[in-house]
Amino acid sequence: MMDDLSQAGIAVNEIDATEHSAPSDIGTGIRTGKQYLEGLRDDREIWHRGKRVKDVTAEPGMARGAETLGGFLDRQHDAKWRDTVTYVDEDGDRCAMAYKKPKSKEDVIARGRAYYEWAKWSNGMFGRTPDYKNASVMAFASATSFLAQGTKGNADFAKNMTNFYDYARKNDKVLTHTLVNPAVNFQQAASGKFNEKVALHVTKETDAGIYVNGARLLATLGPLSDEIEVFPSTVLRASEDNIPFAFAFAIPIATPGLKMMCRDSYDHGESTFDAPLSSRYEEMDAVVIFENVFVPWERVFMYGQPELCNQAFNATNAVVHMMHQVACGKLAKAEFMVGLMCKIAAASGRDKDLHTKGLIAEVMQMTEAVRAMLYSAEQQAHEDEFGNFIPLRGPIDTSRNMFPKMYPRMVEILQLIGSSSLMATPSEADFSNEMAGDVEQYFQLANAESRDRVGLFRLAHDVAISGFGTRQALYERFFFGPPALMASAYYDIYDKDDKMDRIDALLAQD
Ligand SMILES: Cc1cc2nc3c(=O)[nH]c(=O)nc-3n(C[C@H](O)[C@H](O)[C@H](O)COP(=O)(O)OP(=O)(O)OC[C@H]3O[C@@H](n4cnc5c(N)ncnc54)[C@H](O)[C@@H]3O)c2cc1C
Repeated sequence: MMDDLSQAGIAVNEIDATEHSAPSDIGTGIRTGKQYLEGLRDDREIWHRGKRVKDVTAEPGMARGAETLGGFLDRQHDAKWRDTVTYVDEDGDRCAMAYKKPKSKEDVIARGRAYYEWAKWSNGMFGRTPDYKNASVMAFASATSFLAQGTKGNADFAKNMTNFYDYARKNDKVLTHTLVNPAVNFQQAASGKFNEKVALHVTKETDAGIYVNGARLLATLGPLSDEIEVFPSTVLRASEDNIPFAFAFAIPIATPGLKMMCRDSYDHGESTFDAPLSSRYEEMDAVVIFENVFVPWERVFMYGQPELCNQAFNATNAVVHMMHQVACGKLAKAEFMVGLMCKIAAASGRDKDLHTKGLIAEVMQMTEAVRAMLYSAEQQAHEDEFGNFIPLRGPIDTSRNMFPKMYPRMVEILQLIGSSSLMATPSEADFSNEMAGDVEQYFQLANAESRDRVGLFRLAHDVAISGFGTRQALYERFFFGPPALMASAYYDIYDKDDKMDRIDALLAQD
């Protein structure tokens, strides 16, 4: 049937399915950074600044982000963090904690502790650490009864997912995902219809698998990932006539025909003193183009059923586990913003100034609101229909909806208290050239030597002004989905009835 979907004029890559079947090697758990970096050196097709990248681990603007993530993977082996961010599975293999199926409230709290630890390593500035996707894969692999509703010939979608879970977990794979189709027409997109000129869709079906053609919007960490999950959106709803656009699958980044078109890197090669964040945490975003890409059936998890796809993230509770990871990460990031602003205030003596303290207190209050929501969600963890414990959705959904507004406000406050000091930022080299004396003299503050002041404000600059920092704010606004649609979904599931009943009761009083 789906053969009919082949578009005239498109040369479908007739790929021998046996060459590209899903990897089946089962590893033994967490990898080292070295193993991760070696894994990135393959035939992946990555485009950056007008050229095809030969090796992402050596590409200026990408290499240092990859090294940073490699360093984080190494920390999983370090006794200081190991027991917080990993667990030992039934085979005795040590795996990443986000893969652990939570069977109690304590497990949920332990997962939260691991997310928070991962986020603290970058102070939330490397947003797409692998635990985000791991949490989602764990949830989907637990929801076998949901995936088993999918029907297509002999395909066993639930089994495909549990196999993928084991593969990703036991090999400590770094995953990215892409959920959103590009749109050419807002009205069409708003009605849930996709445009086959640009949106990813199935063009051909064979006994071995499906072929897909088109593009998907952003995959953060895409060029630095091992595998990509291509799933339906968490919030955008496909309409019923969107069968060719309805699927979920995962494939290696190095799959033939898969191309990634990166934005310009924000890591411009500066020293860690000059660019404390962008020199370390460039995670890269890329639009993903699929040129008749073959996906073996073993890697397909949903297919041809828009209504099932629409429910996927909610029905499996993947969205709740992802929100949990997000809330923990945002707490680490908000705490970092408080610390940075307090350091700035202390350096200049403005920690005695009423106005400055009031502004920073606003950031503190947002931080404590995130912490309280997270605590509330974890303490009210409960069992779901798949036998997993999940945090209570309401509080972390509130956090997810509020942080996209909180973070830009935090950046605004940093700009307000930083003001011209965000521009008074000589470079590291100016401390050793003929300007050194002037820089030592004129950049001091009441409570900070020049070098400390410049270092602090270069950090603030990287948060509040730089390309890296501006992209962070955009990320917070949008990475989980369009804010208007997330708010609309929040409204729909909010428990409103008792509140409305009270209005009725008041109006009914004599
Ligand atoms: C830095 C960054 C990283 C990202 N990383 C990833 C990733 O790794 N994987 C991934 O899948 N996606 C990623 N995204 C994409 C993200 O999911 C989308 O940006 C988000 O869903 C919004 O979609 P859009 O960008 O097409 O904006 P649009 O949908 O065009 O929205 C633009 C504006 O219109 C509003 N709007 C949209 N639809 C409606 C409507 N029906 N009614 C009223 N208002 C509406 C939105 O709220 C928004 O304000 C990333 C985005 C950014 C900015």
